[in-house]
Amino acid sequence: MRILLTSALLLTTFAAARTASAQTMSTTEMVAMYKDLHAHPELSHHEERTSAILAKGLRAAGYTVTEHVGVYADGSKAFGVVGVLKNGSGPTVLVRGDMDALPVTEETGVPYASKVTAITATGATTGVMQACGHDIHTTVLLATAQNMVQEKSKWHGTLIVLGQPSEETIDGAKAMLADHLYERFGTPNRIVGLHDTNLLPAGSVGVPSGPAMASSQTVNVTIRGIGGHGSMPNLGKDPIVIAAAFIQQIQTIVSRQEDPRDPAVVTVGSIHGGTKANIISNEVKLELTTRGFSDRTREIILTGIRNAARGVAIAAGLPEDLYPIVTVLPNESTSVNFNDEAQAARVKAALATTLGAANVTDYRAIMGSEDFGLLGLATTPHIPTTFFWLGAMYPDRFAAAQAKGELLPGMHTTRFEPDPEPTLHTGAIALTAATLELLKP
Ligand SMILES: [Zn+2]
Ligand SMILES: [Zn+2]
Repeated sequence: MRILLTSALLLTTFAAARTASAQTMSTTEMVAMYKDLHAHPELSHHEERTSAILAKGLRAAGYTVTEHVGVYADGSKAFGVVGVLKNGSGPTVLVRGDMDALPVTEETGVPYASKVTAITATGATTGVMQACGHDIHTTVLLATAQNMVQEKSKWHGTLIVLGQPSEETIDGAKAMLADHLYERFGTPNRIVGLHDTNLLPAGSVGVPSGPAMASSQTVNVTIRGIGGHGSMPNLGKDPIVIAAAFIQQIQTIVSRQEDPRDPAVVTVGSIHGGTKANIISNEVKLELTTRGFSDRTREIILTGIRNAARGVAIAAGLPEDLYPIVTVLPNESTSVNFNDEAQAARVKAALATTLGAANVTDYRAIMGSEDFGLLGLATTPHIPTTFFWLGAMYPDRFAAAQAKGELLPGMHTTRFEPDPEPTLHTGAIALTAATLELLKP
Protein backbone atom coordinates (compact mmCIF):
# COMPACT_ATOMS: atom_id res chain seq x y z
CA MET A 1 0.00 0.00 0.00
CA ARG A 2 1.27 3.44 -0.81
CA ILE A 3 -1.11 5.45 1.27
CA LEU A 4 0.50 6.61 4.47
CA LEU A 5 -0.83 9.36 6.66
CA THR A 6 0.41 11.05 9.75
CA SER A 7 -1.99 11.52 12.63
CA ALA A 8 -1.73 15.29 12.30
CA LEU A 9 -2.85 15.17 8.69
CA LEU A 10 -5.71 12.88 9.63
CA LEU A 11 -6.99 15.25 12.26
CA THR A 12 -7.10 18.17 9.83
CA THR A 13 -8.93 15.98 7.31
CA PHE A 14 -11.55 15.13 9.93
CA ALA A 15 -11.91 18.67 11.15
CA ALA A 16 -12.60 19.81 7.61
CA ALA A 17 -14.95 17.01 6.70
CA ARG A 18 -17.00 16.66 9.86
CA THR A 19 -20.32 18.39 10.21
CA ALA A 20 -20.70 19.06 13.90
CA SER A 21 -24.14 18.77 15.43
CA ALA A 22 -25.67 18.11 18.80
CA GLN A 23 -27.50 15.09 17.40
CA THR A 24 -24.56 13.34 15.80
CA MET A 25 -21.97 11.46 17.83
CA SER A 26 -18.75 13.27 18.63
CA THR A 27 -15.47 11.45 18.14
CA THR A 28 -15.35 10.75 21.84
CA GLU A 29 -18.87 9.33 21.80
CA MET A 30 -18.11 7.11 18.81
CA VAL A 31 -14.98 5.76 20.48
CA ALA A 32 -16.93 5.16 23.71
CA MET A 33 -19.66 3.26 21.84
CA TYR A 34 -17.04 1.20 19.99
CA LYS A 35 -15.12 0.31 23.16
CA ASP A 36 -18.34 -0.69 24.89
CA LEU A 37 -19.34 -2.95 21.98
CA HIS A 38 -15.80 -4.31 21.84
CA ALA A 39 -15.86 -5.27 25.52
CA HIS A 40 -19.26 -6.96 25.08
CA PRO A 41 -18.99 -9.09 21.93
CA GLU A 42 -21.82 -11.44 21.00
CA LEU A 43 -21.51 -14.49 18.77
CA SER A 44 -23.57 -14.97 15.61
CA HIS A 45 -27.27 -15.65 16.39
CA HIS A 46 -26.81 -13.99 19.83
CA GLU A 47 -26.50 -10.24 19.03
CA GLU A 48 -29.18 -9.25 21.56
CA ARG A 49 -27.33 -6.42 23.33
CA THR A 50 -25.58 -5.03 20.23
CA SER A 51 -28.78 -4.92 18.20
CA ALA A 52 -30.66 -3.23 21.07
CA ILE A 53 -28.00 -0.49 21.28
CA LEU A 54 -28.22 0.12 17.54
CA ALA A 55 -32.04 0.12 17.57
CA LYS A 56 -32.15 2.58 20.46
CA GLY A 57 -29.71 4.92 18.71
CA LEU A 58 -31.65 4.80 15.45
CA ARG A 59 -34.95 5.53 17.23
CA ALA A 60 -33.39 8.49 19.03
CA ALA A 61 -32.20 9.81 15.66
CA GLY A 62 -35.74 9.71 14.28
CA TYR A 63 -35.84 6.43 12.34
CA THR A 64 -38.81 4.08 12.28
CA VAL A 65 -37.17 1.00 13.76
CA THR A 66 -38.11 -2.67 13.65
CA GLU A 67 -36.15 -5.21 15.71
CA HIS A 68 -35.87 -9.00 15.54
CA VAL A 69 -36.00 -8.99 11.74
CA GLY A 70 -34.84 -12.32 10.37
CA VAL A 71 -35.72 -15.97 10.61
CA TYR A 72 -33.11 -18.74 10.37
CA ALA A 73 -33.45 -22.06 8.60
CA ASP A 74 -34.25 -23.77 11.93
CA GLY A 75 -37.13 -21.33 12.52
CA SER A 76 -35.42 -19.31 15.25
CA LYS A 77 -35.63 -15.50 15.19
CA ALA A 78 -32.66 -13.30 14.33
CA PHE A 79 -31.57 -10.01 15.90
CA GLY A 80 -31.75 -8.02 12.67
CA VAL A 81 -32.47 -4.28 12.97
CA VAL A 82 -34.11 -2.17 10.26
CA GLY A 83 -34.39 1.61 10.55
CA VAL A 84 -36.27 3.53 7.86
CA LEU A 85 -36.07 7.27 7.21
CA LYS A 86 -38.39 8.67 4.53
CA ASN A 87 -37.48 12.03 3.06
CA GLY A 88 -39.71 12.74 0.07
CA SER A 89 -39.60 11.07 -3.31
CA GLY A 90 -36.37 9.69 -4.67
CA PRO A 91 -34.35 6.49 -4.70
CA THR A 92 -34.34 3.96 -1.89
CA VAL A 93 -30.83 3.23 -0.59
CA LEU A 94 -29.95 0.49 1.86
CA VAL A 95 -26.88 0.91 4.10
CA ARG A 96 -25.74 -2.26 5.80
CA GLY A 97 -23.53 -2.93 8.81
CA ASP A 98 -22.96 -6.28 10.54
CA MET A 99 -22.86 -6.85 14.29
CA ASP A 100 -21.65 -10.35 15.28
CA ALA A 101 -18.38 -11.44 16.93
CA LEU A 102 -16.22 -14.58 16.69
CA PRO A 103 -15.14 -17.47 18.93
CA VAL A 104 -11.63 -16.03 19.29
CA THR A 105 -9.77 -15.34 22.56
CA GLU A 106 -8.52 -11.75 22.44
CA GLU A 107 -4.80 -11.10 22.95
CA THR A 108 -4.53 -7.42 21.98
CA GLY A 109 -3.96 -6.34 25.60
CA VAL A 110 -5.99 -3.13 25.10
CA PRO A 111 -7.82 -1.88 28.23
CA TYR A 112 -11.19 -2.50 26.55
CA ALA A 113 -10.30 -6.06 25.46
CA SER A 114 -13.05 -8.66 25.66
CA LYS A 115 -13.08 -11.04 28.62
CA VAL A 116 -16.25 -12.74 27.42
CA THR A 117 -16.31 -16.51 27.03
CA ALA A 118 -18.79 -18.92 25.50
CA ILE A 119 -19.26 -22.66 25.11
CA THR A 120 -18.85 -24.02 21.59
CA ALA A 121 -21.07 -26.64 19.96
CA THR A 122 -18.52 -29.30 20.99
CA GLY A 123 -18.66 -28.21 24.65
CA ALA A 124 -15.29 -26.42 24.75
CA THR A 125 -14.88 -22.98 26.34
CA THR A 126 -13.74 -20.23 23.99
CA GLY A 127 -13.12 -16.53 24.24
CA VAL A 128 -15.43 -14.25 22.26
CA MET A 129 -13.97 -11.30 20.37
CA GLN A 130 -15.00 -8.70 17.83
CA ALA A 131 -12.07 -10.01 15.81
CA CYS A 132 -13.55 -8.91 12.47
CA GLY A 133 -14.29 -5.35 13.60
CA HIS A 134 -18.07 -5.58 13.35
CA ASP A 135 -18.10 -3.27 16.40
CA ILE A 136 -16.50 -0.65 14.11
CA HIS A 137 -19.22 -1.34 11.53
CA THR A 138 -22.10 -1.02 14.02
CA THR A 139 -20.73 2.27 15.38
CA VAL A 140 -20.08 3.68 11.91
CA LEU A 141 -23.58 2.61 10.81
CA LEU A 142 -25.24 4.51 13.65
CA ALA A 143 -23.05 7.58 13.12
CA THR A 144 -23.89 7.52 9.40
CA ALA A 145 -27.60 7.21 10.19
CA GLN A 146 -27.33 10.27 12.45
CA ASN A 147 -25.37 12.21 9.81
CA MET A 148 -28.04 11.45 7.24
CA VAL A 149 -30.66 13.07 9.50
CA GLN A 150 -28.44 16.13 9.79
CA GLU A 151 -27.90 16.21 6.04
CA LYS A 152 -31.61 15.79 5.21
CA SER A 153 -31.70 18.97 3.13
CA LYS A 154 -29.14 17.43 0.76
CA TRP A 155 -31.10 14.35 -0.28
CA HIS A 156 -34.54 13.02 -1.14
CA GLY A 157 -35.74 9.46 -1.06
CA THR A 158 -35.86 6.65 1.45
CA LEU A 159 -32.97 5.43 3.55
CA ILE A 160 -32.98 1.90 4.97
CA VAL A 161 -30.37 1.35 7.69
CA LEU A 162 -29.81 -2.36 8.21
CA GLY A 163 -28.06 -3.88 11.23
CA GLN A 164 -27.27 -7.41 10.13
CA PRO A 165 -26.71 -10.32 12.50
CA SER A 166 -24.76 -13.54 11.81
CA GLU A 167 -22.43 -12.50 9.02
CA GLU A 168 -19.75 -14.86 10.31
CA THR A 169 -22.07 -17.84 9.97
CA ILE A 170 -23.17 -16.59 6.51
CA ASP A 171 -26.86 -16.93 7.38
CA GLY A 172 -27.73 -13.42 8.61
CA ALA A 173 -28.56 -11.76 5.29
CA LYS A 174 -30.38 -14.93 4.26
CA ALA A 175 -32.41 -14.86 7.48
CA MET A 176 -33.45 -11.22 6.97
CA LEU A 177 -34.43 -11.83 3.33
CA ALA A 178 -36.39 -14.92 4.41
CA ASP A 179 -38.28 -12.68 6.84
CA HIS A 180 -39.56 -10.68 3.84
CA LEU A 181 -37.12 -7.79 4.29
CA TYR A 182 -37.94 -6.05 1.02
CA GLU A 183 -41.69 -6.78 1.08
CA ARG A 184 -41.90 -5.20 4.54
CA PHE A 185 -39.51 -2.26 4.23
CA GLY A 186 -39.25 -1.61 0.48
CA THR A 187 -36.87 -2.84 -2.19
CA PRO A 188 -33.76 -0.67 -2.43
CA ASN A 189 -32.46 0.70 -5.73
CA ARG A 190 -28.88 0.69 -4.46
CA ILE A 191 -27.00 -0.95 -1.60
CA VAL A 192 -23.78 0.08 0.15
CA GLY A 193 -21.66 -1.26 3.01
CA LEU A 194 -18.11 -1.30 4.27
CA HIS A 195 -15.63 -3.56 6.07
CA ASP A 196 -12.57 -2.65 8.08
CA THR A 197 -9.20 -4.08 7.05
CA ASN A 198 -5.63 -4.56 8.25
CA LEU A 199 -4.44 -4.03 4.68
CA LEU A 200 -4.90 -0.25 4.81
CA PRO A 201 -3.97 2.35 7.43
CA ALA A 202 -6.73 4.26 9.22
CA GLY A 203 -7.70 7.33 7.23
CA SER A 204 -7.85 5.56 3.89
CA VAL A 205 -10.42 3.47 2.03
CA GLY A 206 -10.30 1.01 -0.88
CA VAL A 207 -13.06 0.57 -3.45
CA PRO A 208 -13.02 -2.60 -5.58
CA SER A 209 -14.74 -2.65 -8.97
CA GLY A 210 -16.25 -5.91 -10.23
CA PRO A 211 -15.65 -8.98 -8.02
CA ALA A 212 -14.85 -7.77 -4.50
CA MET A 213 -14.92 -11.00 -2.53
CA ALA A 214 -15.01 -14.65 -3.51
CA SER A 215 -17.85 -17.12 -3.30
CA SER A 216 -17.40 -19.70 -0.58
CA GLN A 217 -18.80 -23.10 0.14
CA THR A 218 -18.33 -25.47 3.02
CA VAL A 219 -18.02 -29.09 1.95
CA ASN A 220 -18.08 -31.94 4.45
CA VAL A 221 -16.44 -35.21 3.39
CA THR A 222 -16.80 -38.46 5.31
CA ILE A 223 -14.19 -41.02 4.26
CA ARG A 224 -15.36 -44.47 5.24
CA GLY A 225 -13.21 -47.53 5.75
CA ILE A 226 -13.32 -50.89 7.47
CA GLY A 227 -12.02 -50.77 11.04
CA GLY A 228 -9.83 -53.31 12.76
CA HIS A 229 -6.71 -53.93 14.83
CA GLY A 230 -3.78 -51.62 14.11
CA SER A 231 -1.47 -54.63 13.86
CA MET A 232 -3.47 -56.17 11.00
CA PRO A 233 -4.16 -53.42 8.43
CA ASN A 234 -4.54 -56.01 5.68
CA LEU A 235 -7.84 -57.16 7.25
CA GLY A 236 -9.42 -53.70 7.10
CA LYS A 237 -9.48 -50.59 4.92
CA ASP A 238 -7.73 -47.77 6.75
CA PRO A 239 -9.75 -44.52 6.30
CA ILE A 240 -6.85 -42.42 7.64
CA VAL A 241 -4.61 -43.53 4.76
CA ILE A 242 -7.47 -42.98 2.31
CA ALA A 243 -8.07 -39.49 3.78
CA ALA A 244 -4.37 -38.67 3.41
CA ALA A 245 -4.49 -39.68 -0.26
CA PHE A 246 -7.67 -37.62 -0.72
CA ILE A 247 -6.06 -34.49 0.74
CA GLN A 248 -3.06 -34.86 -1.56
CA GLN A 249 -5.29 -35.49 -4.58
CA ILE A 250 -7.46 -32.39 -4.10
CA GLN A 251 -4.34 -30.18 -4.18
CA THR A 252 -4.39 -30.74 -7.95
CA ILE A 253 -7.85 -29.18 -8.39
CA VAL A 254 -6.50 -25.63 -8.24
CA SER A 255 -3.06 -26.41 -9.69
CA ARG A 256 -4.12 -28.73 -12.58
CA GLN A 257 -7.89 -28.56 -13.22
CA GLU A 258 -8.84 -24.93 -12.63
CA ASP A 259 -8.05 -22.18 -15.18
CA PRO A 260 -4.92 -20.46 -13.80
CA ARG A 261 -6.40 -17.07 -14.79
CA ASP A 262 -9.35 -17.66 -12.50
CA PRO A 263 -8.22 -17.79 -8.85
CA ALA A 264 -9.55 -20.47 -6.53
CA VAL A 265 -8.84 -21.99 -3.11
CA VAL A 266 -9.48 -25.43 -1.64
CA THR A 267 -8.60 -25.75 2.07
CA VAL A 268 -9.09 -28.67 4.46
CA GLY A 269 -9.71 -26.86 7.75
CA SER A 270 -10.67 -29.80 9.93
CA ILE A 271 -9.91 -33.53 10.01
CA HIS A 272 -10.99 -35.98 12.68
CA GLY A 273 -10.62 -39.74 12.79
CA GLY A 274 -9.58 -42.53 15.11
CA THR A 275 -9.46 -42.92 18.86
CA LYS A 276 -6.26 -44.84 19.68
CA ALA A 277 -2.89 -45.78 18.21
CA ASN A 278 -3.65 -49.46 17.72
CA ILE A 279 -7.17 -49.18 16.32
CA ILE A 280 -8.03 -48.68 12.67
CA SER A 281 -11.16 -46.56 12.73
CA ASN A 282 -14.26 -46.86 10.59
CA GLU A 283 -14.29 -43.31 9.30
CA VAL A 284 -12.54 -39.94 9.03
CA LYS A 285 -14.46 -36.67 8.83
CA LEU A 286 -13.09 -33.67 6.93
CA GLU A 287 -14.39 -30.11 6.60
CA LEU A 288 -13.35 -28.10 3.56
CA THR A 289 -13.81 -24.52 2.47
CA THR A 290 -13.59 -23.53 -1.18
CA ARG A 291 -13.37 -20.08 -2.79
CA GLY A 292 -13.73 -18.79 -6.33
CA PHE A 293 -15.06 -15.88 -8.38
CA SER A 294 -17.44 -17.64 -10.75
CA ASP A 295 -20.08 -20.36 -10.85
CA ARG A 296 -17.82 -22.24 -13.27
CA THR A 297 -14.97 -22.31 -10.75
CA ARG A 298 -17.33 -23.47 -8.03
CA GLU A 299 -18.45 -26.34 -10.28
CA ILE A 300 -14.88 -27.36 -11.23
CA ILE A 301 -13.90 -27.47 -7.55
CA LEU A 302 -16.92 -29.48 -6.49
CA THR A 303 -16.53 -31.95 -9.36
CA GLY A 304 -12.83 -32.29 -8.48
CA ILE A 305 -13.65 -33.05 -4.85
CA ARG A 306 -16.27 -35.64 -5.81
CA ASN A 307 -13.92 -37.30 -8.35
CA ALA A 308 -11.01 -37.39 -5.88
CA ALA A 309 -13.22 -38.89 -3.16
CA ARG A 310 -14.45 -41.61 -5.50
CA GLY A 311 -10.96 -42.16 -6.92
CA VAL A 312 -9.22 -42.80 -3.61
CA ALA A 313 -12.02 -45.15 -2.57
CA ILE A 314 -11.59 -47.17 -5.76
CA ALA A 315 -7.80 -47.23 -5.28
CA ALA A 316 -8.28 -48.56 -1.74
CA GLY A 317 -10.55 -51.33 -3.00
CA LEU A 318 -13.55 -50.21 -0.99
CA PRO A 319 -16.97 -51.62 -1.88
CA GLU A 320 -19.22 -49.03 -3.55
CA ASP A 321 -21.51 -48.74 -0.53
CA LEU A 322 -18.54 -47.42 1.47
CA TYR A 323 -17.48 -44.73 -0.99
CA PRO A 324 -16.99 -41.28 0.67
CA ILE A 325 -19.98 -39.07 1.34
CA VAL A 326 -19.56 -35.51 -0.01
CA THR A 327 -22.03 -32.92 1.30
CA VAL A 328 -22.22 -29.21 0.42
CA LEU A 329 -23.62 -27.18 3.34
CA PRO A 330 -26.06 -24.68 1.78
CA ASN A 331 -26.25 -22.59 4.96
CA GLU A 332 -22.48 -22.10 4.99
CA SER A 333 -22.09 -21.21 1.34
CA THR A 334 -22.37 -17.80 -0.28
CA SER A 335 -22.08 -16.18 -3.69
CA VAL A 336 -19.48 -13.83 -5.12
CA ASN A 337 -19.67 -10.35 -3.61
CA PHE A 338 -19.76 -8.31 -6.81
CA ASN A 339 -19.33 -4.52 -6.98
CA ASP A 340 -21.35 -3.02 -9.83
CA GLU A 341 -18.67 -1.17 -11.84
CA ALA A 342 -20.65 2.02 -12.57
CA GLN A 343 -21.82 2.37 -8.98
CA ALA A 344 -18.31 1.66 -7.64
CA ALA A 345 -16.97 4.48 -9.81
CA ARG A 346 -19.58 6.89 -8.40
CA VAL A 347 -18.80 5.92 -4.82
CA LYS A 348 -15.07 6.12 -5.43
CA ALA A 349 -15.36 9.63 -6.88
CA ALA A 350 -17.52 10.77 -3.95
CA LEU A 351 -15.02 9.34 -1.47
CA ALA A 352 -12.11 10.99 -3.27
CA THR A 353 -13.88 14.34 -3.03
CA THR A 354 -14.59 13.86 0.67
CA LEU A 355 -11.41 12.16 1.91
CA GLY A 356 -8.92 13.41 -0.67
CA ALA A 357 -7.90 11.35 -3.69
CA ALA A 358 -4.69 10.20 -1.98
CA ASN A 359 -6.76 8.42 0.67
CA VAL A 360 -8.87 6.43 -1.80
CA THR A 361 -7.36 3.44 -3.50
CA ASP A 362 -8.49 0.74 -5.90
CA TYR A 363 -8.62 -2.53 -4.15
CA ARG A 364 -8.04 -5.95 -5.56
CA ALA A 365 -10.60 -8.65 -5.01
CA ILE A 366 -9.84 -10.86 -2.00
CA MET A 367 -10.53 -14.55 -1.43
CA GLY A 368 -12.50 -13.82 1.76
CA SER A 369 -16.29 -14.09 1.62
CA GLU A 370 -19.27 -12.11 2.84
CA ASP A 371 -23.01 -12.49 2.68
CA PHE A 372 -23.43 -8.77 1.88
CA GLY A 373 -23.72 -9.55 -1.85
CA LEU A 374 -26.84 -11.66 -1.22
CA LEU A 375 -28.79 -8.49 -0.45
CA GLY A 376 -28.31 -7.49 -4.09
CA LEU A 377 -28.88 -10.94 -5.57
CA ALA A 378 -32.28 -11.38 -3.89
CA THR A 379 -34.24 -9.70 -6.69
CA THR A 380 -34.43 -9.97 -10.49
CA PRO A 381 -32.85 -7.91 -11.91
CA HIS A 382 -30.19 -7.72 -9.21
CA ILE A 383 -29.75 -4.58 -7.12
CA PRO A 384 -26.34 -2.93 -7.66
CA THR A 385 -24.16 -3.16 -4.53
CA THR A 386 -20.97 -1.43 -3.42
CA PHE A 387 -18.76 -2.87 -0.69
CA PHE A 388 -15.69 -0.88 0.22
CA TRP A 389 -12.75 -1.33 2.58
CA LEU A 390 -12.05 0.91 5.53
CA GLY A 391 -8.41 1.17 6.62
CA ALA A 392 -8.24 0.35 10.34
CA MET A 393 -4.58 0.13 11.31
CA TYR A 394 -2.56 2.60 13.39
CA PRO A 395 -0.80 4.51 10.58
CA ASP A 396 2.62 4.51 12.33
CA ARG A 397 2.46 0.78 13.12
CA PHE A 398 1.23 0.08 9.59
CA ALA A 399 4.14 2.01 8.08
CA ALA A 400 6.67 0.27 10.36
CA ALA A 401 5.31 -3.16 9.43
CA GLN A 402 5.25 -2.23 5.76
CA ALA A 403 8.91 -1.13 5.93
CA LYS A 404 9.74 -4.65 7.10
CA GLY A 405 7.58 -6.22 4.39
CA GLU A 406 5.07 -7.40 6.98
CA LEU A 407 1.39 -6.96 7.72
CA LEU A 408 -0.22 -6.21 11.07
CA PRO A 409 -2.46 -9.00 12.47
CA GLY A 410 -5.57 -9.32 10.33
CA MET A 411 -9.25 -10.00 10.86
CA HIS A 412 -10.15 -13.20 12.72
CA THR A 413 -6.82 -13.21 14.61
CA THR A 414 -6.41 -12.78 18.37
CA ARG A 415 -4.38 -9.58 17.87
CA PHE A 416 -6.52 -7.71 15.32
CA GLU A 417 -6.45 -4.16 16.68
CA PRO A 418 -8.13 -1.26 14.86
CA ASP A 419 -7.03 2.30 15.66
CA PRO A 420 -10.40 3.48 17.02
CA GLU A 421 -10.44 7.25 16.49
CA PRO A 422 -9.33 7.71 12.89
CA THR A 423 -11.01 4.47 11.76
CA LEU A 424 -14.40 5.45 13.17
CA HIS A 425 -14.10 9.03 11.93
CA THR A 426 -13.13 8.06 8.42
CA GLY A 427 -15.76 5.31 8.40
CA ALA A 428 -18.61 7.65 9.30
CA ILE A 429 -17.47 10.32 6.86
CA ALA A 430 -16.98 7.79 4.06
CA LEU A 431 -20.23 5.88 4.55
CA THR A 432 -22.17 9.16 4.79
CA ALA A 433 -20.56 10.44 1.57
CA ALA A 434 -21.26 7.15 -0.24
CA THR A 435 -24.88 7.10 0.94
CA LEU A 436 -25.45 10.73 -0.11
CA GLU A 437 -23.99 9.96 -3.53
CA LEU A 438 -26.25 6.92 -4.03
CA LEU A 439 -29.34 8.88 -3.01
CA LYS A 440 -28.85 11.16 -6.00
CA PRO A 441 -31.56 10.40 -8.60
ZN1 LIG B 1 -15.21 -12.04 9.66
ZN1 LIG C 1 -16.36 -9.23 8.92
